[in-house]
Amino acid sequence: MSVQLRSALAELPAYAPGRNVPGAIKLASNELSFPPLPAVADAIAGAVADSSATAQSGVNRYPDNGAAALLQKLSEATGVPTGNLIAGCGSVALCQQLVQIVAGAEDALPQPDSPDPQLPEVVFGWRSFEAYPIVTQIAGATPVRVPLTADHQLDLDAMAQAVTPATRLIFLCSPNNPTGTALSAPAVEAFLDSVPSDVLVVLDEAYREFNRADNVPDGAALALARPNVVALRTLSKAYGLAGLRVGYAIAAPDVIAALSKVAIPFALNTLAQAAAVAALGQCDELQPRWDEVVAERKRVTDALLAQGYQVPPSQANFVWLPLEDDSARFSAHCEQAGVTVRGFSHANGGGVRVTIGRPDENDAFLTAAASFDRKER
Ligand code: PMP
Repeated sequence: MSVQLRSALAELPAYAPGRNVPGAIKLASNELSFPPLPAVADAIAGAVADSSATAQSGVNRYPDNGAAALLQKLSEATGVPTGNLIAGCGSVALCQQLVQIVAGAEDALPQPDSPDPQLPEVVFGWRSFEAYPIVTQIAGATPVRVPLTADHQLDLDAMAQAVTPATRLIFLCSPNNPTGTALSAPAVEAFLDSVPSDVLVVLDEAYREFNRADNVPDGAALALARPNVVALRTLSKAYGLAGLRVGYAIAAPDVIAALSKVAIPFALNTLAQAAAVAALGQCDELQPRWDEVVAERKRVTDALLAQGYQVPPSQANFVWLPLEDDSARFSAHCEQAGVTVRGFSHANGGGVRVTIGRPDENDAFLTAAASFDRKER
């Protein structure tokens, strides 16, 4: 007899990461295509080596559960007090923790016309980050997907209208993964003014360092000013630490305390903490890398437009090709040409997301895109 699994899991897709194809150029997961900075590599090596009896940080010891040195460094880097900060095992873990602190099935609301209570709801644009519906369903809450506008932006009016008495959390992803479109500061402020102040609003700023729009919302300032706002950030993208899993949130102290309660103990490992502390001190070295990505984003966008593709303006380290039914065929074509990209072939909002890599990697992708069979596009 097989084990009785939770019935909710039957409906739950597993998270599908970008494919790693041996030998191919990987432009599928929005990573930074640069080697680690020497200071970061040294910090990791130092943390491995430091296993003396009095050492706090060797890999034979548990990591610092509160990540004190990292929070101190984040505080210096952001100007946010340590009491408003928490670090997690990637910002995806913090997404899960955020849903867990507000949306438990035990808080379902009785409904007048139905014997079934109304489960807590989590609202987000769609498409947006693939993990939002997954972490929502794991918590036993209902995902509410609000379609993007025709120009691939979050539809803030429709999202505000989707709020019900059961809404507990709203994810605003800006720049939005996978479409790259970004919200302006006034639009975010107006949205925050329009939703109930007991609903948690998470501004997911995973790609903020690549956003060169006027009027970029400042998640840190918003989270310090409004008790229901959380800014979510990661060192996986701009800081090039995707393999080490470090994210952080900025929020009111009561939200931070709740997030600590649902954290898996010691989830943020010693090497990740050491690398993150070192990387946060290297912004001067990292800035030219970010600038290259931004310049390459423009070059790739212009080249794709010239090839006849539709490309919404991106403020992230990737571009979006809304190829709908052709998405899977385009992705397979690129993979044949030695470049892995990320296809999303759902009926509602299918497309292909292509990470901006180094110039030669982007050239390989553009060559593949140019040879895609245009008749069927
Ligand atoms: N938020 C967004 C919008 C993302 O695109 C991602 C990664 N794809 C994450 C959060 C999670 O990143 P990580 O867990 O690596 O910090």
